[in-house]
Amino acid sequence: MPPWFAGLNEPQRQAVQALDGPVLMLAGAGTGKTRALTARLAQLLWTGKAAPHQILAVTFTNKAAREMKDRVAALLGIASVEGWWMGTFHALAARILRREAEAVGLKRNFTILDPDDQLRLMKQLVAAEGIDDKTWPARLLLSVVERWKDRGLVPDRVSAADAGDLAGGKMLRLYAAYQARLRELNACDFGDLLLHCLTVFQSSEAVLKRYQQQFRYILVDEYQDTNVAQYLWLRLLAAGHRNLCCVGDDDQSIYGWRGAEVGNILRFEQDFPGATVVRLERNYRSTPHILGAASGLIANNESRLGKTLWTEGEQGEKVRVRGLWDGEAEARFVGEEIEALQRKGHALSEIAILVRTGAMTREFEERFVSIGLPYRVVGGPRFYERREIRDALAYLRLIAQPDDDLAFERIFNVPKRGLGDAALQTLQHLRRAQGVSLFQAARLAVGTEELRPQARRALAELVAGFERWQAQATAVPHPELAEIVLDESGYTAMWQQDKSIEAPGRLENLKELIDALAEFDSLAGFLEHVSLVMESLQDSGADQVTVMTLHAAKGLEFDTVFLPGWEEGLFPNQRALDETGLRGLEEERRLAYVGLTRARLRAIVSFAANRRLHGSWAAAIPSRFVDELPAAHVEQESDQGLYGAAAATWGGSAFGGGFRDWGETRWSPGMLRAQKAREAGTAGRGAPTLDLKARTVESLPKQSHGFARGERVFHKKFGYGAITEVEGDRLTVAFDHSDAKKVMAAFLVPAERA
Ligand code: ATP
Ligand code: MG
Repeated sequence: MPPWFAGLNEPQRQAVQALDGPVLMLAGAGTGKTRALTARLAQLLWTGKAAPHQILAVTFTNKAAREMKDRVAALLGIASVEGWWMGTFHALAARILRREAEAVGLKRNFTILDPDDQLRLMKQLVAAEGIDDKTWPARLLLSVVERWKDRGLVPDRVSAADAGDLAGGKMLRLYAAYQARLRELNACDFGDLLLHCLTVFQSSEAVLKRYQQQFRYILVDEYQDTNVAQYLWLRLLAAGHRNLCCVGDDDQSIYGWRGAEVGNILRFEQDFPGATVVRLERNYRSTPHILGAASGLIANNESRLGKTLWTEGEQGEKVRVRGLWDGEAEARFVGEEIEALQRKGHALSEIAILVRTGAMTREFEERFVSIGLPYRVVGGPRFYERREIRDALAYLRLIAQPDDDLAFERIFNVPKRGLGDAALQTLQHLRRAQGVSLFQAARLAVGTEELRPQARRALAELVAGFERWQAQATAVPHPELAEIVLDESGYTAMWQQDKSIEAPGRLENLKELIDALAEFDSLAGFLEHVSLVMESLQDSGADQVTVMTLHAAKGLEFDTVFLPGWEEGLFPNQRALDETGLRGLEEERRLAYVGLTRARLRAIVSFAANRRLHGSWAAAIPSRFVDELPAAHVEQESDQGLYGAAAATWGGSAFGGGFRDWGETRWSPGMLRAQKAREAGTAGRGAPTLDLKARTVESLPKQSHGFARGERVFHKKFGYGAITEVEGDRLTVAFDHSDAKKVMAAFLVPAERA
């Protein structure tokens, strides 16, 4: 018996042995679906049914593909797995499309656009089509296109009804124009990778047949999260031999918001009549308490197939539910728990913190940095490395330290204010010539006519903005100042107008940044802290705790899983509830189920009684998901005195109710003091301590050029002329071929040397 077979249970073996024909493994979390799929792959190779290049294996991430390759190679004792067709839908489709590019009017070396390029292109087209981008922002229209692509719809397949009055009735034309332009550029976007493949397959039977014959066996993990285009792609490829094995769990469908259709998995038996359906019921991952808690939770969803799951072994620890005062206390609690585990000899790599939104990683990162706990953030940059955070920090740095040229360059034209490369070059030139900072160069340039009037106006506005904010810094508490700066500079508005999927997350991150600011006495103190945090962000390569979003955690497992932020509005997330109602709520609940079922030995759910939102404190109530955890599997804890009587009366779902009306009366004196201090802090944090000595340029640089009135000079842009006035480094020149202009001495040379 081959080694991969020995460790499997009966239904898993069935899935591994039924090599031919359609197979569906529809089973709950941790039942060994991925393991069986991997064994099946080994079995296919071992029995000689297929050579490696004849198996198409689709995984959810490139990392999962890598793991599968390594495991199969190790099982079979194969050294090289090069050329195996294992990867994500996008990676595999791109590989096929490189070969078939000509059939869709592309060259083989086509480029794959990144989201910024995509948006730029869409903006140009929106303008060219005369669509009002205030009513119909390019971002929004781009996401419409993306959802159509998810559904496998090329422009002439979109119905007029689908397009409706989008883009003022021009949506279909816009989509066609977008596709045409991509073709001209020999480029495609992410969605096109699959869409073009579909077009190729549908337009040439011979080509399709070639791939059908090549990929004798198709394996798909996490099938519940496929969208329509991916589904069609698989169906076409499997249509001949029908050797398609899909595994998934309807309870773990968490990408509906990105066009995934859980219906794909539910329809499998209709699509492939006679399919072998394997149900796995034994969970090998989690303890009975964890599984019991997760099962009880997901039972609250109405639209599900419903399945039984059981697990053997020690009951283990109950799922701990912990209420804390605020987010900071929550992070401190998690840090302490991890240190305690560490002392008992647990590996950090077996510990994960799974958060609902990307912005939530910050509080944990801060805490871990301060206690020196190694961590990594998976599936996204760490908080202070994020684009919007770096932009915002650049604004703040420039207020505290106007000579920070890197900061200046970063936000000079962000949001776009019509200051292009030419303007920056002019400023750079001035900076070098005068030995000043870019910001000072900007102040100088607005007083002259070196820049085009439009650019000059924009720059003058920016400079005036900074002068105003620098002045306000002595009068306004710094979190408020940050809000003012982000608003007045147009930065917040930039993301508010942005209709992409990431934009709301970026706005949340900005709010989180303002909350973080409030934790420091001064802006300077905060910036100092950030630079220290940034410093220590280098990967140590050592044993590290993992911090990631619940979405990114799919398919993974850890001994210990922390699930913070289980509060109404945060999780379930208010946006999901607002946008898709009950469907959204059920997807959120599945996300909670995914989170709990990542844990092997222990799961710790937590929530805070206070969250700082928009810089002010809001009382939070525990998530309804906390109430939904069956009491028998849960151990509730809370900070001493935090909930007073509520904690004592808690029993199963009574907890939520008890907690919700704890009101002010149950606050302990210590907490009241803390809260008062906070209120005082956020309301008017005493005298601002920001050191702004360096912040304004008090005087123009001394005259150092030696030009004199009447002298003939040459200017690169305006040509020859004579100096009529000298004020420091600003000279007025009567040019021979244009009006008199104020220019900087740095741009002039004596006429005889020109
Ligand atoms: P998910 O739904 O979260 O993706 P899954 O169904 O893919 O879960 P696996 O990741 O394959 O589950 O398996 C979960 C854990 O159980 C793994 O640690 C795996 O090695 C172990 N496992 C699976 N099958 C068996 C078995 N027959 N005997 C012992 N351990 C098993
Ligand atoms: Mg799996």
